[in-house]
Amino acid sequence: GKPTAGYGDHYTRQATSRPEAMDAFWMPFSANRQFKAEPRLLTGASGMFYRSVDGREILDATGGLWCCNAGHARPRIVDAVQQQIATLDFAPTFQMGHPLPFTLAERLVAIAPDHLNHVFFTNSGSESVDTALKIALAYHRARGEGHRTRLIGREKGYHGVGFGGISVGGLPNNRKFFGSLLPGVDHLRHTLDLERNAFSRGLPQHGAELAEDLERLVLLHDASTIAAVIVEPVAGSAGVVLPPVGYLQRLREICDKHGILLIFDEVITGFGRIGKAFAAERFGVMPDMITTAKGLTNGCVPMGAVFVSDGIHDAFMRGPDNMIELFHGYTYSGHPLACAAALATLDTYAEEGLFERAIELESYWADAMQALQGLPNVIDTRNLGLIGAIELASRPGAPGARAYDVFTRCFHREDLLIRVTGDVIALSPPLILDREHIDRIFRTLAHVIAETA
Ligand code: PMP
Repeated sequence: GKPTAGYGDHYTRQATSRPEAMDAFWMPFSANRQFKAEPRLLTGASGMFYRSVDGREILDATGGLWCCNAGHARPRIVDAVQQQIATLDFAPTFQMGHPLPFTLAERLVAIAPDHLNHVFFTNSGSESVDTALKIALAYHRARGEGHRTRLIGREKGYHGVGFGGISVGGLPNNRKFFGSLLPGVDHLRHTLDLERNAFSRGLPQHGAELAEDLERLVLLHDASTIAAVIVEPVAGSAGVVLPPVGYLQRLREICDKHGILLIFDEVITGFGRIGKAFAAERFGVMPDMITTAKGLTNGCVPMGAVFVSDGIHDAFMRGPDNMIELFHGYTYSGHPLACAAALATLDTYAEEGLFERAIELESYWADAMQALQGLPNVIDTRNLGLIGAIELASRPGAPGARAYDVFTRCFHREDLLIRVTGDVIALSPPLILDREHIDRIFRTLAHVIAETA
């Protein structure tokens, strides 16, 4: 169906009739002045499409922001949220509760890897990451290994914007303006290798040995100081960096050898994007914790969740039973609206077989990605499930400018929403798309990229 007019229409007119009124909203991760000079405003959404403020239907090739895996405004999810807000709008979950997060957690652990049987609720990916890092530190302390305080991330990693997340993260721009960050953090080398792996179809063949970099850090710091390693199985924000075949298995082995916890940040890969509920399952590598958000509620109510292993959880459950086991939580942990949205989202994923659909379409998607290889500006394509990246050659002296051009032309002229990060076009469409949508996305991209030669 077509996106229809909504509650916000009155406010839409207010915001757009006076451009100076846009100054008050300090936009996140945006060039505010550039945007406000040429705004791109969305006022409606349905299925595979957004509606722009000027009434155009925009094909969504980014699933919102990697989060609307079931497409937009799905009636079942809409109804669930509407009913919930009219029934129980909020209830505390500190020493109190309501049934929904218990039900939701049970549903979630049923689709999670075997030993991840406990869920801590947050409101975002950033909060999930900080929660997992804190659980890792407190876990070692609970077991009398409080000397394990060091956290290991990876170059180019993105783990949200909390102080924990930017400390273990490895994207320079997200770190360098904010002081010295958490002490005792180190980073593994990244795995992007265009020389050996350009235009891989699926996982790159070369680079499993880069996992040995963890042994370097163990040698440098001693295993007894290291609490946890956190990596994105597929790094999204760095421009979709896929793990070399065997790399994650090797990381797991090295962590096991040294008593180090392994955390997978699956904020992007969780909930079907690469064809399974979690990348851990797709890759057959079991982490000790998984951080999630985004697709958990199909993006429609903010929510995150940390999946925690029995071993970690049980280490906290040993003291007197009137003792708070973990001094951590958010006012909105397990919020009723988010729980209702998540339950309806899980139902939708299951009933429509959307994780399986990502597998069904994977090879059609891969063919479409690989067909861009011939374009002179394209230096790499990367794909897995329904995620994709097209890396463009930088214009001399203007990193990112070419990809930004492609993005604005696609939006303003071609009615196509893509995402760019640096010189990379990142694609993560809703999993409900069909072959015609894929054809349109790549036909448009081929011609717009060619124009920017
Ligand atoms: N971790 C990863 C891997 C992410 O991709 C993101 C967001 N793109 C986050 C954490 C942060 O999530 P949020 O923006 O919901 O805080």
